[in-house]
Amino acid sequence: MSEHGIHHVTAYAGPAQRNIDFYTQVLGLRLVKKTVNFDDPGTYHLYYGDESGRPGTILTFFPFDHAAPGRVGVGETQETAFRVPRASIGWWTHRLVAKGVPHEAVAHAFGDPVLRLRDPDGTMLALVGVEDAEESTHAGGEVPPEHAIRGFHGVTLLLGASEKTAAILTGVLGFHEAARDGSSIRFASGAAQGGFVTLKAVGGFLSGRPGAGSVHHVAFRAADDAAQEAMAKALVETHGLAVTEQRDRQYFRSIYFREPGGVLFEIATDEPGFTIDEPVETLGRALKLPPFLEAHRAQIEDVLPKVA
Ligand code: ZN
Repeated sequence: MSEHGIHHVTAYAGPAQRNIDFYTQVLGLRLVKKTVNFDDPGTYHLYYGDESGRPGTILTFFPFDHAAPGRVGVGETQETAFRVPRASIGWWTHRLVAKGVPHEAVAHAFGDPVLRLRDPDGTMLALVGVEDAEESTHAGGEVPPEHAIRGFHGVTLLLGASEKTAAILTGVLGFHEAARDGSSIRFASGAAQGGFVTLKAVGGFLSGRPGAGSVHHVAFRAADDAAQEAMAKALVETHGLAVTEQRDRQYFRSIYFREPGGVLFEIATDEPGFTIDEPVETLGRALKLPPFLEAHRAQIEDVLPKVA
């Protein structure tokens, strides 16, 4: 069955080891792929997710040792939220205190408790306590399975105005308007994981500046190449947007476009997934390179910072 929703979210980060330690140990995600940025192979591309890195659970980073900090502003993803069981919000609050992770008091949004925190680069994250949390498919680090993150809840995009972005979400990406809360509109796709996008219209406000702690793009799901092609056609013909050619990202195939609110969107296929070049048991341990970079492995390994 073809599902709509968020496929992955990609952000910039500071040092790779610090990024790995935070996401695998503190948050308990699984490092499901250690590869390089195919467009800049001297840089890691790290993927975190559930046991197998299913669409809707994947947060990825381009880490740079000396990354300048970014600034969140209009035309950017303001917050990336994960799902946890509602009963686990208290446990997570204690954990963030114990780990010295900057966070806010529990607030409420759209009826759910929200625990907002920042990663070591200042990336704005949230844990949303949901009533109907899925069974956990990965408990990593010190996080027991009952409290484990269950993939994405959704993202919040900061926009000057939300109408044109809303039209893309509902007309092309498979979402429908689900709720309003102040100046925020929430769209839902029906997917359990990565099923929400919230648009927050703030009018004239500083633009975002890319850098450590900021999100580079949000990718949405397409079941396969045919579904992706139909979505590209709608973006071009109905919405007048420019869309890139398909790029092979080894674990999915992608097209990219700048949505009308300024946020970089991607549409990524569900297939083939992260087990195409290593078994699920050992995902993320070895540095994996796509065939076109394998001949350069020695030079690439030479320039990449060492990580454990
Ligand atoms: Zn991507």
